[in-house]
Amino acid sequence: MENDYCYAGDDCRQRTRQHPDPGQREHGSLMCDSCVQAADRALVRLVYDYRDLENTLPRSISHWFDGQPAAGRSYPTPLNESVDELQRTMVALAQHAHRVAAQLDGLSEPPRSCRPGFALQRSIEVVLPRVRLLARDRRGVDNLVGLTMVHQKARVILGLNHRKTRMPGDCSGCMATHLLQDEPRFAGDPLVVYCGSCGRTWSREEYETYVSLGLHLGVSG
Ligand SMILES: [Zn+2]
Ligand SMILES: [Zn+2]
Repeated sequence: MENDYCYAGDDCRQRTRQHPDPGQREHGSLMCDSCVQAADRALVRLVYDYRDLENTLPRSISHWFDGQPAAGRSYPTPLNESVDELQRTMVALAQHAHRVAAQLDGLSEPPRSCRPGFALQRSIEVVLPRVRLLARDRRGVDNLVGLTMVHQKARVILGLNHRKTRMPGDCSGCMATHLLQDEPRFAGDPLVVYCGSCGRTWSREEYETYVSLGLHLGVSG
């Protein structure tokens, strides 16, 4: 059964409750354009996500418990483990995407061993300009979808710690009315609206298009 559905499948951003089918693939890509753009935005943010998970989160968690910084004390195990795991997954997926990009574009492989934060940054630098190349390869699509998902998970966890603005509208993925926009973090930070419940993101342009049409986000006309 051949069709033109986006290979992101169940994770395709164009799937909504009203429109359960994935979006259409375009221009030789295996993913729809909306998924490609979401992967692009996720990659721009991942290095910050990683750093923020390392720095901001543990300090704030300890504040929740007794109002004091946790000097030399370990953090609650389940949350600490899930943050560690999320960081490890980020690095593993980025390095895998790096390897696929290297094969497709005739580049050298990622270095065997270096600090995880640095490894992530290095791989993102290689992968980011090659998102559309990866979107033409089945393994690349799996990586891009995975990287988008880990960004969304980090987005929800870290959203607890950033100054943010509440935005009107409903999430097209989970229907929550919990849309947020963080204050810019760095020069040229692309303004992204995201769902505080499931982490789905929209570029500012996408968001404004949907809202000005008076529709639920993600339901294209
Ligand atoms: Zn898609
Ligand atoms: Zn949502």
